[in-house]
Amino acid sequence: MTTLDQIVAMLPKVELHVHLEGTVQPATLFELAQKNGVSLPVADVEALRAWYTFEDFDHFVEIFMTICECLQTPDDFARITYEYGQSMARQNIRYAEVTWSPTTHAGATGKLPWEDLLAAINAGRERARREFGVEMRWIPDIVRCYPDTASTVVGWLTSPEARSGGVVALGLGGPEVGFPPELFTDAFRQAREHGLHSNPHAGETVGPESIWGAIRSLQAERLGHGVRAVEDPDLVAYLAGRQIPLEICPTSNVRLGVYESYAAHPLRRLLQAGVWVTINSDDPALFETTLNDEYVHAVQDCGLSLDQLRQVGLNAVRASYLPEPDKSHMLAVFEAEYTRVLGPRPTQNVDDLPDLESLWDNLLSREPERIQGQWRDLAAEEREAIFAHLKRMVSEEGWAPAQRQSAQAALDALDSLRGAGSDADRTRT
Ligand SMILES: [Zn+2]
Repeated sequence: MTTLDQIVAMLPKVELHVHLEGTVQPATLFELAQKNGVSLPVADVEALRAWYTFEDFDHFVEIFMTICECLQTPDDFARITYEYGQSMARQNIRYAEVTWSPTTHAGATGKLPWEDLLAAINAGRERARREFGVEMRWIPDIVRCYPDTASTVVGWLTSPEARSGGVVALGLGGPEVGFPPELFTDAFRQAREHGLHSNPHAGETVGPESIWGAIRSLQAERLGHGVRAVEDPDLVAYLAGRQIPLEICPTSNVRLGVYESYAAHPLRRLLQAGVWVTINSDDPALFETTLNDEYVHAVQDCGLSLDQLRQVGLNAVRASYLPEPDKSHMLAVFEAEYTRVLGPRPTQNVDDLPDLESLWDNLLSREPERIQGQWRDLAAEEREAIFAHLKRMVSEEGWAPAQRQSAQAALDALDSLRGAGSDADRTRT
């Protein structure tokens, strides 16, 4: 039987929220530190790996800053970009929109001229494209605790070499608390006027007001994190209505204490509310995760069905800044491959069926009389879709035991409801 890990590995993927600095693996960091004469707090790679397992947010920042300190020459940037491309290929990630923080590495506060930094990262991208066939675009960000650098970043990103060098959007990263989106209104307006997309982080460590600010002041087209929208029903409805995509990073949120567990994470709730959700790894090396791990967690620990996983996987292609016709082409390729791996998409997604929520509840509480009417009102293909979905839940690898039990209970309820009729027979095949 195919395991969930194998299924996820087979699916082609797009990653929209990943920090280049956060992809640097301990072994690479160790070599870079030796080469550049940077002293590390530990003596060997094994100890470095343990040190990477951060204890709190301050330690997380310390690791991130140490990585930045070890990145000094153009070759270093070419190398880490190439290595992320290698990791993409291993995970079947076909395309990524990657964030990095230019003022940390270039200009007055950095070690390289901006042009050299961009050229080095593009050299790594080119080599990864050549060797692995993976594609990347850039979302360089303003680090929000340095608002004074905003105009420098925008100047760089709107330059001809940036536009021809893969830059597609302006990001906004760093500590959200104390640095609201409104501080960056001018920078984002200028970026948009030059045709860049607006892609700030918001709603991670600050609540809904930060997301409203990013939408109203920065005209955000897509949001980094955005999970805390769940605290404001009006905002959830707005995001769903306007179809503003969220780049959700479950492990990052759990590791940084935004949510205490995957079970408490609002990924599934947001998806079911109609929000355009995508799944991402954020800083995979620091969170000891991969995009594939995130897809597995989404199903195993956050409770998504495989059909919902298909939806979020395809959402990432749609939410990307790929131009047409590249996007349509990639979407067609992904849909074909998802169908090959997961089977055809149900004629109608069971989650979209009318009153499914109450129907489902009734099924589970085994109150057949109450649902008889509802069931009769469903069209034949809607019943078919429900049967197919329940049977897959019972038989497929990758469902949590509780989910499998619920599905079996629902099938039993349908059996007892329908007696020896032909539909009941179908549930036993
Ligand atoms: Zn991030």
